[in-house]
Amino acid sequence: MGKGNKALVALIITGLLFAGCSKGSGTSSEDYELKDVTFPLEEAVSLKFMTQSSPLAPTDPNEKLIYKRLAEETGVNIEWKNYTSDSFVEKRNLTVASGDLPDAILDAGYNDYDLQKLGKDGTIIAVEDLIDQYMPNFKKVLEEKPEYKSMITATDGHIYAFPWIEELGAGKESIHSIDTFPWINVEWLNNLGLDMPTNAEELKEVLLAFKNDDPNGNGQADEIPLSFIINHGGEDLAFLFNPFGLGDNWDHTVVSNDGKVVFTAADEGYRDAMMYFADLYKNNLIDEEAFEQDFNTYLAKGKDLKYGLYFTWDKANITGDNDQYELMPPLADATGNVHVARTNGMGFDRGKMVITSTNKNLELTAKWIDQLYDPVQSVQNNWGTYGDTEQQNIFEFDESANMLKHLALEGTAPVELRQKTNIGGPLVILDEYYGTVTTKPDDAVGRLNLMKEVMVPHMNADNIYPKVFFSLDELKELSTIEADLFAYVHRKRAEWIKTGKSEEEWEEYLAELDRLKYPTWLQIKQDGYDRNSN
Ligand code: CA
Repeated sequence: MGKGNKALVALIITGLLFAGCSKGSGTSSEDYELKDVTFPLEEAVSLKFMTQSSPLAPTDPNEKLIYKRLAEETGVNIEWKNYTSDSFVEKRNLTVASGDLPDAILDAGYNDYDLQKLGKDGTIIAVEDLIDQYMPNFKKVLEEKPEYKSMITATDGHIYAFPWIEELGAGKESIHSIDTFPWINVEWLNNLGLDMPTNAEELKEVLLAFKNDDPNGNGQADEIPLSFIINHGGEDLAFLFNPFGLGDNWDHTVVSNDGKVVFTAADEGYRDAMMYFADLYKNNLIDEEAFEQDFNTYLAKGKDLKYGLYFTWDKANITGDNDQYELMPPLADATGNVHVARTNGMGFDRGKMVITSTNKNLELTAKWIDQLYDPVQSVQNNWGTYGDTEQQNIFEFDESANMLKHLALEGTAPVELRQKTNIGGPLVILDEYYGTVTTKPDDAVGRLNLMKEVMVPHMNADNIYPKVFFSLDELKELSTIEADLFAYVHRKRAEWIKTGKSEEEWEEYLAELDRLKYPTWLQIKQDGYDRNSN
């Protein structure tokens, strides 16, 4: 190859690289050179965002009333690249890999690993300075609630994304405090003249009566005394571990009041609970399908009112909104003490919106995003809006009180109406907004009341395990360990109920947990907890 050819090749390569670059930067908006931005802009401009929405929602997000109002108030037209939720992650990843970056991604769906990786390779930018300079609404929240600032800050000190924060009840009274609520058939209790059980032994007697004494009075032994979906969040039987030591939750992690992180599945109380369940199983009190059924199978039997006791977030979703089932209070342990383990859940998502490195209008973008953190706007982002003349509204807006009021749903499924009319995306709803900025949704009020009256008095743990922002290295190690550790724990959990061998095999089980690096896992979780609480 001669000198001339080499130069030509070099030119071609440079040309390709250049073409690649300009194509990438061509996707984001041009630099409008706007400084000291106030809304509405005197002259409208466009920003290019990617987002996702439900298939029920309009294909063009700008057809949503909530976005029409934002466009009017800001003078910023958003050119959307919108994908339906089922294909969003794939489309998002393809777009980002191609380098054709939009200005920002709203409802981005990024996990902690993605955020740090994209931050590190320069695809998305750190936003802490933008918050400081241009985002008074969001900044105010972080100043009032500094715990959220530490929760969104990565171990390298940067904030890479705008979060979704939804408080619904504070501390122990949070709606997330217990996900698996136990619903007991009080009509059957009444028919058989039985009292509400108060401990594990009494519950066994009740379940035996449900099985043997035809509580539904049809002359057939068609009752299912106890059902659940094992290892399935709110439908799991975690609640029944409570009378045996620490109790349990979906990630088997609790925090002692002196700040020690404890793995419930390695606790002796867990072993004892397993022996109790095995006894129930031996007496044919547990639904044989509890170990393999999917949600629809579980639901079908629930709708037929076949269950004596079952578990889920809200009974209305399984056995309907009737008085046949009531929340069963927590059971006392052998010494008469009552304890309820809390679930490690909260309304919090770190990766709801990111700004890309090709964005040339950072001040404008930051100020637009800050609108989403205005309290009255945040509430609408979450649930939907008001004043729509073409479809049902979630809210009416009381202008004099500057307050949104939930309207009766009149049979409409709340989730569907929300998905059609809301934004998702970044928002903050603090507990103090209820009664001042918005009313609580009806479906939450009932659950919050039950939580407070029945459960909170028996929550002995001051803290839950928080949403720790682990480093990239920690996340890699945790996910590698959890793939084996949790699979093993879940397998033994189902197996022991059937075999009754949790006592016999306990030492062997603990040795296997060690082999699967349980001590390393616990140390990373403890370090994260300590970092989070300092
Ligand atoms: Ca019957």
